[in-house]
Amino acid sequence: MKTFAYDRAEDAASVAAALAQGATRVLAGGTNLVDLMKLGVETPDRLIDITGLALADTQWNADSGLRVGALVRNSDLAADPVVRSQYPVLSRALLSGASGQLRNMATTGGNLFQRTRCPYFMNVDTACNKREPGSGCSALEGDRRNAAVLGASQYCIATHPSDMAVGLAVLDPTVGVVGTDGIREIRFADLHRLPESTPERDSTLRDGEWVTHLDIPPLPSGARSTYRKVRDRASYAFAVVSVAAVVVVENGVFTTVRIALGGVAHKPWRATIAENDLLGSIPSRAAVVAAMEHELGAAHTFPDNNYKMSLVASTAASTVMSLSDVAADEARR
Ligand code: SF4
Repeated sequence: MKTFAYDRAEDAASVAAALAQGATRVLAGGTNLVDLMKLGVETPDRLIDITGLALADTQWNADSGLRVGALVRNSDLAADPVVRSQYPVLSRALLSGASGQLRNMATTGGNLFQRTRCPYFMNVDTACNKREPGSGCSALEGDRRNAAVLGASQYCIATHPSDMAVGLAVLDPTVGVVGTDGIREIRFADLHRLPESTPERDSTLRDGEWVTHLDIPPLPSGARSTYRKVRDRASYAFAVVSVAAVVVVENGVFTTVRIALGGVAHKPWRATIAENDLLGSIPSRAAVVAAMEHELGAAHTFPDNNYKMSLVASTAASTVMSLSDVAADEARR
């Protein structure tokens, strides 16, 4: 591993100042960053440890929602009584990620910015535009089984690895950010980006910026939410496909439908085309499958990952209908 300097952050502004100097990474749980440093994928000159900052709490307000500090551990957030009762989709997404040991270390902020697990990104002996801009993309002619089907480019076809981020995508949080120019808020939908010609940038954060907290608004009255993950083995595996959903059914029709997809794109993919198709419709498996096929109309696949098309549609249909069936049962009582 390359030699690096280690400092403890004194406050939020000092972190931004350190990041703005370049070649510096924020250290929190370290569950992804330290692995990448051991592999030589990340080679910072300096780590700035933020674990001493007061960002490890959640605060609930019934009117404004839940504030989650960037240092709240994944296991603590998943077990938080408010998260379990108000945002089950987030609790389930967190519990489906990694292992218990990793969730005990990993933080909310770090989870948002974990890097892709594309095997070529992790192997410094192969070409990868995300790791080394301009070097090429080994995946294009290599292992494409887990490649993106939506929003990819000729420069990168990798998928985003976070379950938590897919769960958050249907909760419409705002992201609190500190930089050398002060603080600002970003809509969660605008935080992650598609690869285009610059896949080395995973997010829209500016140089020197880092995330201090999330603000998750309350869900609409009567909302139900959940997360479903399809993976190659029962635990400790990244999503082949995942679906996060929030629905409200009133008088037999969808009055709220939010669907986000994991394992299909360079970022959590909010399925807005499908949502618009389903809003106001009577819940049915056929309607959800048709809406998802509409959503996937812009997809590009390889023979290796074409299986994701039907898998996305069927997983979304099962997930959404599991929520609307419960709503229908309750309405009949
Ligand atoms: Fe690198 Fe992206 Fe290509 Fe994977 S898909 S090798 S991360 S450029």
